[in-house]
Amino acid sequence: MVKLAAMLRDLALPPRCPGCGEIVAAAHRFCAPCWSSLRFIGPPWCAACNRPFEHDRGEGARCASCLADPPAHAGVRAAIAYGPVARTVALRLKYARRTAYAETAARLMVRHLPAHVDVLIPVPLHRWRLWRRGYNQASLIADELSRLSSVAVDRTTLERHRATAPLRGHSRRARAQAVRAAFRTCGDGVRDRHVVLVDDVYTSGATTDACTAALLRAKARSVTILAWTRVLDDDQPA
Ligand SMILES: [Zn+2]
Ligand SMILES: [Zn+2]
Repeated sequence: MVKLAAMLRDLALPPRCPGCGEIVAAAHRFCAPCWSSLRFIGPPWCAACNRPFEHDRGEGARCASCLADPPAHAGVRAAIAYGPVARTVALRLKYARRTAYAETAARLMVRHLPAHVDVLIPVPLHRWRLWRRGYNQASLIADELSRLSSVAVDRTTLERHRATAPLRGHSRRARAQAVRAAFRTCGDGVRDRHVVLVDDVYTSGATTDACTAALLRAKARSVTILAWTRVLDDDQPA
């Protein structure tokens, strides 16, 4: 029913830019000013965490923080560097029930799927938050990625069994501590499999680090993070 209502609405209304609402030629297209403001993330980047480098440092080069503390994940892929337009899409997807934004995001994320991927796992919400919001934005993105790539989505293996207070404004250390014990896995669904963990916004990595640890304990072969947008430098999401 929801899909049908969306289709009828799309027939009646012209497609609009996901960034600013200007009328555009086709659904999920950005207008020229919004499109040119997007900073796409790509190489040269750190071989371990995919943080972009200003200059090419050569094959396999790692950033200082990955050299000091090698990550457990197999990379952090994100479509767009965090900025006003990426933020608008993320906020509308998260709070305004504008689920079409999941497709907008997935279309720009799909090229970042690693060569080997067996399953997509959205970062889960605690069931109370899921109940309040009615949907999990990461799960909506995972569904659209699945449709575009034919990789299956697993929504049952990884569970957020403890609610954590919003992490915004906390130190990196406090965030990590708060989410460390929030996730667990059940069943054998990820054993020996290459997992892509799907999220909307990648900030400090505390949440995805906790998910990655839980999935690796469940014997996943690798865990790569894939997000719509990633906070680089010191800008913080509002
Ligand atoms: Zn626009
Ligand atoms: Zn790195």
